[in-house]
Amino acid sequence: MPERVNLLGLPRTGLEAFCSELGSKPFRARQLMNWLYKRGEHRFEHMSDLARDFRALLAERAEVELPEIVTAQQASDGTRKWLLRADASQAFEMVYIPEADRGTLCISSQVGCALDCSFCSTAQQGFNRNLSTAEIVGQVWLANRELGFHPGGARIVTNVVLMGMGEPLANFRNVVPALHIFLDDLGFDLSRRRVTLSTSGLVPQIYKLAQETNVALAVSLHAPDDALRSQLVPINRLHPIAELLEACWHYIDERNGRSVTFEYVMLADVNDSPAQARALARLLAGRPAKVNLIPFNPYPGTPYRRSGEAAIARFRDELIRAGVIATTRRTRGDDIDAACGQLAGRVIDRTIVRLGERIKTAQTARTARAAL
Ligand code: SAH
Repeated sequence: MPERVNLLGLPRTGLEAFCSELGSKPFRARQLMNWLYKRGEHRFEHMSDLARDFRALLAERAEVELPEIVTAQQASDGTRKWLLRADASQAFEMVYIPEADRGTLCISSQVGCALDCSFCSTAQQGFNRNLSTAEIVGQVWLANRELGFHPGGARIVTNVVLMGMGEPLANFRNVVPALHIFLDDLGFDLSRRRVTLSTSGLVPQIYKLAQETNVALAVSLHAPDDALRSQLVPINRLHPIAELLEACWHYIDERNGRSVTFEYVMLADVNDSPAQARALARLLAGRPAKVNLIPFNPYPGTPYRRSGEAAIARFRDELIRAGVIATTRRTRGDDIDAACGQLAGRVIDRTIVRLGERIKTAQTARTARAAL
């Protein structure tokens, strides 16, 4: 029997092609998307306006598989975090951050990460694998369900940021179709300004992205000069700052965007001096750029410390004085390790250890999975 196709992995064009392949009309794709994304229904037998034999065919050839929840946690500030299973021994995370005027879901694009940024806990576990399009889309679908979305109700996830585990542009092939489903009016119907892709700076892929989509772009800059940035974000050795910035301005021109958000993690005595703020301002002043300062979130074993509040305020004020829009990101969910850069470290380690213990006694991978 052929493997079933997970419909969450197909953007509109793919779903139309799939319906044709099943001998059905492409407009069935619209009906399917309506059930999947507007009504939050994933059971074919409940899709009442689809012909019975088409539903039977779907049951045979297709599925709507969601990532399985391993654990769910809620922080004292209302931030929620889910650990989702990738396979028997690997898991990835997503975080929901409720605010007065919006609900932001921070999703993962890979299990682990290969980019090796020196201050990031995801980097410490190395790279495991790319998430599929269905696993990326499935995060938003699942969060909506877990947060109580119902058809006709108010939107709960209003913003999606690809700022969880992984480097989204290193998983370009699976990420781009997911972006299309986020923006499609038959899909999650999010506005392009409410979907943000954050990258550590894969320059060729930024140019490619400009041909594919117009979502908001965030770039992890973290240093005003190449010597320091190459230490913090090793991909800089391949694509230095000047090249990266050129790609950013190209993206804005090409996609008619407003500005690129530059993320800048505040590390005490590393990148947080007023002189470094002025150097950063020289790179960005007069450009379509905003800076988002992220207080460093520590994790076990890191040599870095968070900059003090006064240093962060001073850095921000230097930028503003030089004409650069700058804000400081409020830390959310740190009591459950859900803050920026904290994803996966400890929780994944614990999962692996527990799983390892179980595998020792389990007969097969299948019983190991069942034991989790
Ligand atoms: N790989 C992408 C997506 C990750 S987004 C990227 O690099 O942009 C997560 C953001 O949090 C990035 O800006 C990342 O540099 C930052 N970050 C990583 N570790 C952090 C930590 N320990 N404290 C604060 N921010 C961190």
